[in-house]
Amino acid sequence: MDDSILVVNCGSSSLKLALFDHDHQKITSALAERLNQSDAFARINGDETPVHLPSGASHSQALAALVNAFKDRALMTGEPMAVGHRVVHGGETFREASLIDDQTVSAIEACAALAPLHNPVNLAGIRAMQALFPNVPQVAVFDTAYHQTLPERAYRYALPERCYSDWGVRRYGFHGTSHYFMAQQAARLLEKTPATTSIISAHLGNGCSITAIQNGLSVDTSMGLTPLEGLVMGTRSGDVDPGLFDYLASRGMSANDVHEMLNKESGLQGLSGQTNDMRTLCELADHGHEPSQLAIDVFCFRLARYIGAMTASLTKLDALVFTGGIGENSARIRQDTARHLRLLGIELDPDLNQHHGRWSDGRISSPDSCYPALVIPTNEELVIAREAARLAVAGAEHSEG
Ligand code: ADP
Repeated sequence: MDDSILVVNCGSSSLKLALFDHDHQKITSALAERLNQSDAFARINGDETPVHLPSGASHSQALAALVNAFKDRALMTGEPMAVGHRVVHGGETFREASLIDDQTVSAIEACAALAPLHNPVNLAGIRAMQALFPNVPQVAVFDTAYHQTLPERAYRYALPERCYSDWGVRRYGFHGTSHYFMAQQAARLLEKTPATTSIISAHLGNGCSITAIQNGLSVDTSMGLTPLEGLVMGTRSGDVDPGLFDYLASRGMSANDVHEMLNKESGLQGLSGQTNDMRTLCELADHGHEPSQLAIDVFCFRLARYIGAMTASLTKLDALVFTGGIGENSARIRQDTARHLRLLGIELDPDLNQHHGRWSDGRISSPDSCYPALVIPTNEELVIAREAARLAVAGAEHSEG
């Protein structure tokens, strides 16, 4: 056994594998795509030679091939001390990360109805790594767990009680690992402790969500029962009128058609008719493509509305924090969003916003702003690696004691 930690993130047709050393520094990472298809493909980041996968490779075959590739390239010398897995849905069962045993696996299976595209592949990753490393502790880190502190008024929908009690219909929230990391990092940058830091955290990637964090705890969040609710996203609509379903049914669409449309053909993609990629949209808008500009406008306006809405859950605000591919990289999206927030007194400094990080330690607001705004790169893999190591050590101490 060496002191390394593997972090596994299985998506529906792809997976990411990262390797950390005992100081939680990333040694390397790898990606497999188009899994279960004839052209399945894998590579180690920074290495041009692909890792060979059999045609139609499954998640477990890809993980085995990547672990072998790490060993062949001497990136890993022995067994890791822990394996951390990103698991999308922990329902109400998991309030924090958990060492994986038979009970944990059954509970993750029980949550699969709430995340049918994600939990089964997360479990496939867990089983594959258990087979490769039967004596190594495995840890599940849940996207939903951080939001289990939401008060009932924030997590309940105004539906008949039986929807909640019989079927678990409530707001769960996602991207919890990223929002948790924002709370920790913002506290560090503001020279406070997480337990005294209150922020609004906007995670803007392909999926987008926003969370109100009061004294370190999640108290409201924009994603709900599924990761479809809330902000405009790459291909997801975010909020729509629930009456839409009935209306579209009357136009001949099935429930599955509507589901596919809202998840895969909407958001930035749907509004622009061109792409779900924000960088490309900004370029298209600069060349006068009006639907792309509209997509940007709707995205920023919805985000600003949610920032305003999140203040209802907070008694103080120490910072507005941007993260994710868009939040970290797009000065334009941050500026266009802030333009709607003048009444809240949030003002960005144009230079800091353009060049954050070079000399500003993440701060992009002007000195006159009523609240600081920060840009903080997210690092969900690091959180998973730390949690995996922490629980593996705690588990070993418990069995020794
Ligand atoms: P994921 O949710 O898949 O992890 P990311 O967090 O990597 O996604 O975010 C991807 C999004 O970030 C894409 O829409 C991409 O265009 C956008 N993005 C990355 N860099 C920039 C940039 N410089 N300007 C605008 N958008 C950017």
